Amino acid sequence: MARQDEIPDHGPVRTCIGCRTRAAKRELLRVTAGSDANGQPAVVPDPTATAPGRGAHLHPTGECYDLAVRRKAFPRALRLGTGLPAAPVGDYLDSMTVNDPPRNRSNSS
Ligand SMILES: [Zn+2]
Repeated sequence: MARQDEIPDHGPVRTCIGCRTRAAKRELLRVTAGSDANGQPAVVPDPTATAPGRGAHLHPTGECYDLAVRRKAFPRALRLGTGLPAAPVGDYLDSMTVNDPPRNRSNSS
């Protein structure tokens, strides 16, 4: 029989393609292959998890996004060419993390 990949008490679990940590699916952002604002092929966020086709999951944080980009985890997880840009996901995360401002390099105070 298929191995159980889901914990019934906590719902579906997926592995973040950035930090490779397992987390509840609802805590992760699904990304999938799509097209960017210019109609070019790109990795795009799928917050409603309704897009058809292969998807990948990651924590909706800049850190995990950076890790995934550096590891080329997006194209690998989505089985796509390595040149596929993931900028739309980065833009999406930027717009999401307004109450989590980036660290200031010049630390006053
Ligand atoms: Zn992560």
